Amino acid sequence: MHSLRVGTALTAVLTRGVDACCRGASAYGASGLPNVINNESSSSATAYHPAADGCPETLATRISDPTTSSSSLVALVEYVKRFPTQLGVPTASPQPLVGHRGLGPSSVGCRFEGVLPLWSLGAAPLMSPVSVSHVRHLGTTTNLDEAAQAAGLNKVAVSADVLSRVKDHGLLHTAGFIGGKWADVASDKSTFEVRNPATGAVIATMPRMRADETRAAIAAAHAVLPQWRLRPAKERAAVLRRWHDLIQEHKADIAAIMTLECGKPTAEALGEIASGAASVDWFAGEAVRVCGDVLEPPTRDRRMLVLKQPVGVVGAITPWNFPMSMITRKVAPALAAGCTVVLKPAELTPLTAVALAELAERAGLPDGCLNIVMGDAAAIDMFYTGHELVSSDTVRKLGFTGSTAVGRLLASGAGNTVKRISLELGGNAPVIVFEDADVELAAKGIVASALRNAGQTCICANRVFVHDKVYGKVAEAVTSLTAKLKVGDGSETGVTIGPLITPAALEKVTGHVADAVSKGAKLLFGGAKPELPQPLAGGNFFVPTVIAEATIDMRCFKEETFGPLIPLFRFQSDEEAVLLANTTEYGLAAYFYTRDLARAWRVAEELEFGMIGLNEVAITSEVAPFGGVKASGLGREQSKYGLAEFLDIKYVCMGLGYSTA
Ligand code: NAP
Repeated sequence: MHSLRVGTALTAVLTRGVDACCRGASAYGASGLPNVINNESSSSATAYHPAADGCPETLATRISDPTTSSSSLVALVEYVKRFPTQLGVPTASPQPLVGHRGLGPSSVGCRFEGVLPLWSLGAAPLMSPVSVSHVRHLGTTTNLDEAAQAAGLNKVAVSADVLSRVKDHGLLHTAGFIGGKWADVASDKSTFEVRNPATGAVIATMPRMRADETRAAIAAAHAVLPQWRLRPAKERAAVLRRWHDLIQEHKADIAAIMTLECGKPTAEALGEIASGAASVDWFAGEAVRVCGDVLEPPTRDRRMLVLKQPVGVVGAITPWNFPMSMITRKVAPALAAGCTVVLKPAELTPLTAVALAELAERAGLPDGCLNIVMGDAAAIDMFYTGHELVSSDTVRKLGFTGSTAVGRLLASGAGNTVKRISLELGGNAPVIVFEDADVELAAKGIVASALRNAGQTCICANRVFVHDKVYGKVAEAVTSLTAKLKVGDGSETGVTIGPLITPAALEKVTGHVADAVSKGAKLLFGGAKPELPQPLAGGNFFVPTVIAEATIDMRCFKEETFGPLIPLFRFQSDEEAVLLANTTEYGLAAYFYTRDLARAWRVAEELEFGMIGLNEVAITSEVAPFGGVKASGLGREQSKYGLAEFLDIKYVCMGLGYSTA
């Protein structure tokens, strides 16, 4: 046992093979790595002799033991980290890292590559009877990072936190997905970190992809396009339905991933998953209802038809605040229409995206139909992933959700290749509470809308206009409801307000509150960072805040706050309220509360926004068109209008070969 101490500082790289039936197997089986055994059947384990490779004998036995399981190795790492002294491991020992490539709960169809210190292998009981199918022993090193680099893994990894909260480790890829293969090493081997906004801790390290990978992904999507678009719509729909079912089956795991990477409370994460899955199901239904038209011709010597055909390869760029539903509302209609997709999820939240891709693969989506590239899109050079998606002639449509600033850049870039584009951009949503409103209903709606996802949704109530006559009552009700909310780690029961996504987001909200107070606003509740115990003290938390007497010279009137702030403005007439609401460059969602039917119609028509909530703030649905006007975007997602964005219209004029004269 002494040879197993960390002092020996041995490392091994374990590569768990892929079941022969699993696509992507060739990428592993044909890796050509030195000192690799490929014992898909446990009997071939004898082909490898780690002892001859310099490995201490006890460990050699353990590694070659066909009962060693990759899941037990992960458990071992966890165990070693938590109880180092029980194992005689000095606490200053190198931090074990697990490089992860979809470690599944069973041996069938799973893949695993990882770096583990060898001393951990011999130190604890092994569990499930699954054989390790590839083992590579790298010799001695004191540095796990070096070992990972040497193995070409470049530290791509997920943290123990992720491993312990997610049951199906097969969802945890630290890789992009190109042509049906998981790509965990960027062309220049660079990586980026994903952090838990509740603690600031790194939860994953991912490959930072660039132009090469994006071009490969576009090529893969293009290669499979003829096959996918010609599949009967019913078959495409069946794949989407299986995807939907798998998402539902794995909702607890997806919610755990989502909460870890974007901070939203578990209940909200589950809500997003339900809505994202509903999109997939809806578009599966719509796939079989794509219909063209037969037109009445002006003369009898011809027939005139309209065909609807998939636009081709689609580029999709999505934000971090809805790491799943912004993806499904683009990918599902694209696939339903017969298009193929290259997706670039936000750098802050790539793990949800790869979990979805894993499930799509399990649902039987052919290789190349959905590809994922990830990395820093805003890098100031020519080679970021977003640029390739915009400038490629092969990509025929770009679907983007994100900030207006980036949307403008993409729109001007897309003009060069004259591709179709849908933009779901920023918002600055007003809520108007008229004097005849149900105050209690309005207060509930204001708080629910403004503070959803800690105020980080594009349709969040950002400016609340209240009629003078009910101002006091509304302010009191909103403050009392806000005070009941619980701030904390979204994975904890009862927490309703999670962290903001980044320190910069925290700074923006803090700035908006300070600006308002300096200009005369009254702080009714909140206004500061909460005091939370470790490790949450490192998180980007802000107490949900209500301010009264807000005015139009304040930043919270002009800008999208994107944080948990409810500013209450006063108004005296309908005209004033509508004018205030429309005084913004944005035009995504607007809400108002009234019981007067004539006013309801008039105001709904006068508000310059793409979506209106009348006495209701929960307006999002897979059946309804989602999108904005003005600087909030172009095109619509969800609903039959959302599917139309992925279909080209082709007119066919068929001459019958005779003259009518
Ligand atoms: P963002 O900074 O615009 O980023 C959105 C996506 O664009 C990310 O994947 C980002 O990649 C990528 N990106 C950034 N710069 C790029 C560039 N120069 N070229 C190509 N891609 C680029 O927005 P965000 O901060 O993530 O999201 C918040 C914004 O989205 C808010 O304004 C919100 O209102 C809006 N939003 C709108 C809707 C809607 O439906 N209208 C829905 C949700 C959110 P990296 O992460 O790698 O930088």
